[in-house]
Amino acid sequence: MAVAGLPLPMVDIAHYLDDCKFILVSNREPYEHMRGATGVEVKQPAGGLVSALDPTMRRTHGTWVAWGSGTADRDVTDEAGRVAVPPDENCYTLRRVWLDDADVNGYYHGFANQALWPLCHMLIQHFEFRTEYWERYRTVNLRFAHAVADEAERCSGRAMAWIQDYHFALAAEYLRAMRPSLFIHQFWHIPFPPADILRLLPDGTHQAVLRGLLGNDLIEFQIDRYAANFLDCVEKFVPEARVDHARQTIVFRDRLVAVGAFPISIDVERFEQMAASPESEARVATLRDRYAKGTRQLGVCVDRIDYTKGIPERLHALETLWTESPELRERFTFLFVCTPSRTDLPAYAMLEREVLQSVMAINTQFGTPDWTPIVFINENVDSDLLANVYRAADLCIVSSLQDGMNLVAKEFVACQLDERGALILSRFTGSAEEIEGAILINPFNVDGFVAGIRTALGMSPEERKRRMHRMRRDLHNSTIFDWLDSILARATGIMGAQRIAQRQVAAV
Ligand code: UDP
Repeated sequence: MAVAGLPLPMVDIAHYLDDCKFILVSNREPYEHMRGATGVEVKQPAGGLVSALDPTMRRTHGTWVAWGSGTADRDVTDEAGRVAVPPDENCYTLRRVWLDDADVNGYYHGFANQALWPLCHMLIQHFEFRTEYWERYRTVNLRFAHAVADEAERCSGRAMAWIQDYHFALAAEYLRAMRPSLFIHQFWHIPFPPADILRLLPDGTHQAVLRGLLGNDLIEFQIDRYAANFLDCVEKFVPEARVDHARQTIVFRDRLVAVGAFPISIDVERFEQMAASPESEARVATLRDRYAKGTRQLGVCVDRIDYTKGIPERLHALETLWTESPELRERFTFLFVCTPSRTDLPAYAMLEREVLQSVMAINTQFGTPDWTPIVFINENVDSDLLANVYRAADLCIVSSLQDGMNLVAKEFVACQLDERGALILSRFTGSAEEIEGAILINPFNVDGFVAGIRTALGMSPEERKRRMHRMRRDLHNSTIFDWLDSILARATGIMGAQRIAQRQVAAV
């Protein structure tokens, strides 16, 4: 039942929260209990968010509310769905919310991933609205709100709820109705679309999503553009709300709702350490020996197979480059890490097949006896190995059609200890608005994309070093702990101002 030790938290959240109980809400849980061959095993899902927030939760002794998705989850919880975690350390409470297959199908696969996900990424050809999904999404959001309200009830003092992401667009409003004075805020990880796109949700539904979010005291977006889109949407579709664009605030039902940009980042030191280990040095040498011998360069990309990531566009650009410039055929090898994702959804299964076929076609067309143009890794790769791949690379391509932030771009920069690599980055990622020094491309413009790859291949080592050095310096000033710190500073600042205002009202 043991889980590997985690780094110490770098944000002293307790300093912000004082005596306030912290309740975190996310779809995925930080620990999953699974039935294994030797009994119950505990898994900690990989991912930046869990590894940044788990140490924070340990320090605050708060409660994390999430979907209980593990096969043995029910075996270890009390009747309210609560269990102390991490196992054997018992630092905080995990409160599990139970979902049956119909809930998961409607709320998660249905409304969240087939309606909101494509809509927010503005890829409307994948958008599918079903009333049944929407109803289920509402029910599940209400169930989560009840669980959070119950957790807030259990503590004697004040509480703060922090909701994660697009799975819970309605939870804050429901929670507000149950606990009017609870401080609630929400981080929206994905883009927020302009009004003309949001209104593709049927009449009544797009307004409900906005009113749901307005149940928060503070709504955090990745970048200002998404915050501005949200303010525009509220102005257009919620007539009773008063929007102040300059201050990024909204007055709604006699409450002030603040909006802001808080770009998420990565645990930079952890990636640097993984890239710097002796095992890493050895793996980097092997990778370079295998794929980047002599003047040959090594390109990499890392994504879930998702239609937002621009994978067919990237393959098309490579194919065009090798067709138009035969002299570049053996000049670089491309390591494609493409992890299967959401394979229950037909659009994802189809994309995976399409990607596999294109890779095979390219390798057949251009490959030679001693050169495979694209080395395809169609499985989940752990972050240790990814850190080695990033360090070994001469260039990395991120070609998302839309992406809230894109952490792969930041991980590549963190692991470039030798500062040899160039980053080719889609201008439609949140990262492109933050990182200065990348070669920006538009993945819809194949000629521009090809020109970007040519620029990277031809860039001098000095110029690459200069750019990478700058990107690495900037990244050090903007880690996931800075992100957490700035959100909590803002949230507790607003919370403090609300308390002062309440005291003044009481004194009158
Ligand atoms: N990732 C991973 N193994 C893989 C592929 C991806 O650990 O095989 C991680 C990657 O390191 C990054 C995350 O998945 O931390 C992807 O985050 P990003 O913001 O780039 O895209 P998202 O998948 O969240 O849309």
